[in-house]
Amino acid sequence: MPPINILNIGATSLSANHNYLNQSIGHNANSAINSAANFLHQNSSIINHQNGQSNDLQTANCHQTNSLAHVQNLNNQLISSGLANSVNNTCNNAVNNAIMKTANSYFNNSTTNNNINNQEMAQPDRAIGYGAFGIVWAVTDPRDGKRVALKKMPNVFQNLVSARRVYREVKMLCYFRHENLISALDVLQPPHIDFFQEIYVITELMQSDLHKIIVSNQPLTSDHVKIFLYQILRGLKYLHSSNIIHRDIKPGNLLVNSNCLLKICDFGLARVMEEDESRNMTQEVVTQYYRAPELLMGTRHYGAQIDMWSVGCIFAELLGRRILFQAQTPIQQLDLITDLLGTPDQEDLKHACTAARNHMLRKPFKTNSIAALYSLSGQANHEAVHLLCQLLIFNPDKRISCVDALAHPYLEEGCLRYHSCMCTCCVVENGKRKYCDDLEPVSSRTFNDNFLRDLYSVQQVKERLHKRILEKCSSYNRVPLCINPNSVAFKSFASSTVANLSELPLASPHQWE
Ligand SMILES: [Zn+2]
Repeated sequence: MPPINILNIGATSLSANHNYLNQSIGHNANSAINSAANFLHQNSSIINHQNGQSNDLQTANCHQTNSLAHVQNLNNQLISSGLANSVNNTCNNAVNNAIMKTANSYFNNSTTNNNINNQEMAQPDRAIGYGAFGIVWAVTDPRDGKRVALKKMPNVFQNLVSARRVYREVKMLCYFRHENLISALDVLQPPHIDFFQEIYVITELMQSDLHKIIVSNQPLTSDHVKIFLYQILRGLKYLHSSNIIHRDIKPGNLLVNSNCLLKICDFGLARVMEEDESRNMTQEVVTQYYRAPELLMGTRHYGAQIDMWSVGCIFAELLGRRILFQAQTPIQQLDLITDLLGTPDQEDLKHACTAARNHMLRKPFKTNSIAALYSLSGQANHEAVHLLCQLLIFNPDKRISCVDALAHPYLEEGCLRYHSCMCTCCVVENGKRKYCDDLEPVSSRTFNDNFLRDLYSVQQVKERLHKRILEKCSSYNRVPLCINPNSVAFKSFASSTVANLSELPLASPHQWE
């Protein structure tokens, strides 16, 4: 396989490894070390240790931040006056030794007593993504100098729907334990409840996403397609076994590292499966291009199969490097789907609402043209098209499940490659790779949203969430983090808001009569 720019299957990148290895690093630094680290990082990272200030004061500080120029000036002074002087002037003698020990590990290249990576430390905090419900920044964790992703969930308590949604997302992020799903590494300590407006979650930092890779000019070999598809399905199998539907599977929500490790992210629209078929589920889900036909046809009840349709669309997009069904409106979206699959028969329309079914039957009959899938690319061989056709099935009852898709021969190589050099579940023993018994694990228990029961006001959600986050913070057994209003990037961080709704390809289902 030819080497390419950032994608390099098997050649595990240093930073990817860091993120993995540091998930479980314990921190037993004493308070002097912490205050030293805090001081040294005060202006370098948006997130910081909890120091002597009260939560209230910190929140108040957020509203009166130093100007960027002033903070930069302070930074320059710190550098030009020499670290030792600054430290001596600022801190008392009792902690000097500890501080100098920490300082050395930050500023000497020859450090061995600390894992701080100076190169990573030097990177400024910056925004890397905007979504409907959150903003993601790449920041430095001051406790170990590692680059992590900081997800800011603003305007959480605007209304009950948004408060409950965020509570559910935070719960899910803390619940997941799977290589192919983004999960919370930490939650920032909230301020006093009176100032509690935003929630910050720290997750692994990934380098890119499938959308960026597909639209780039980097070559995508069939090995790449297989390894990506395998991981999407592996993550989804775990998610679905937890009883969760993602409801917004699209290339931009599939994060990728330079070693091709893939993680599904953004659980803002995810929800627990609804067993009761008589209960209506919202149709305002899934970005239109990846939206399953049953959603487009106004079904009131749907399941994990909607995610599988999205996977089919992404699989075709990886092969053809263009969006498979790129329509302007939901009706046109449906037209493009039937252009490829042909007019569905009566049985396959059983999930559609009456108006949508009538619309479909009024239209001229179309025969399928799935042979066109072979022309997506030279990589679209029999096996690829066979699997693709199982994913792109109009009737959700007949669409392939995650478990069955993973067993498809097309994915054998992807599975082998993943477990030969990328996974953390298989080990090397006596120089030989020993594969684990369960290559695609399911969740040991199902996720339920009983915690949302009895929460009928914004204030109730706020109090419960505040309590749970504080409990979570103390359970991590490491120094809690908070937002550092003195950091260089704080000003733009504080003012960054979620993407404008008009900029997002958000779901806008057709109103069938
Ligand atoms: Zn493995």
